[in-house]
Amino acid sequence: MRLVLLGLPGAGKGTQGERLAEKYSIPHISTGSLIRSVVNSGLELGAIVNSYIAKGNLIPDEYMMEILRQRIMEDDCRNGWILDGFPRTVKQAKHLDEMLKRDSQALDRAFDIRISADEAVSRITNRRVCRSCGQIYSIEHSLEKVKGVCDKCGGPLYQRPDDNVEVAKHRIQVYMEQTHPVVHYYAQSGRLTGINGEQDIDGVFADLATAVAALYAQKAGEQG
Ligand SMILES: [Zn+2]
Repeated sequence: MRLVLLGLPGAGKGTQGERLAEKYSIPHISTGSLIRSVVNSGLELGAIVNSYIAKGNLIPDEYMMEILRQRIMEDDCRNGWILDGFPRTVKQAKHLDEMLKRDSQALDRAFDIRISADEAVSRITNRRVCRSCGQIYSIEHSLEKVKGVCDKCGGPLYQRPDDNVEVAKHRIQVYMEQTHPVVHYYAQSGRLTGINGEQDIDGVFADLATAVAALYAQKAGEQG
């Protein structure tokens, strides 16, 4: 199953992507960690990509597509993948369609995990991260057992400098301008499912899993 997760920052794409990956045994490919691993790979492509990041510039589409192409050619992607953080623009979405088509593949479904801009700001500014293991907490909802200490590893929790109201509002604005049109792009070709992202994590996951199960059933019907 080839899936794309869309949604405002704070919508829970990472959490839901990981849970879907576990349930369906297909990799959750977060563009952020993918780029970090390429930069740390020591390969020429990593050095090129790093030269853009180091200057604070966006990675050009041609390199992004190449990074993604190499990743989804890996063995664990035989049965599909879940993209999180890509495509960021309609142009990238079109490139993705073309790339898949060359390999006689296609995207099965894009999910739009919907939360309001206010909810996104609130989630981002309430976020705390474990300095040791990276586990994410919300000071509003999933209060840790001991204040300021990670339940998983005992590491100290902190607020990322970027997780403030101004930066959050800017990220939402950039998302609405550049990435939200991708929702319409997939809707127009009948490949979009909207999910209410303002439920608790289990509720969002239940809706996603129901939709994905229907896709698997549909695919089995087509093949059988
Ligand atoms: Zn931790």
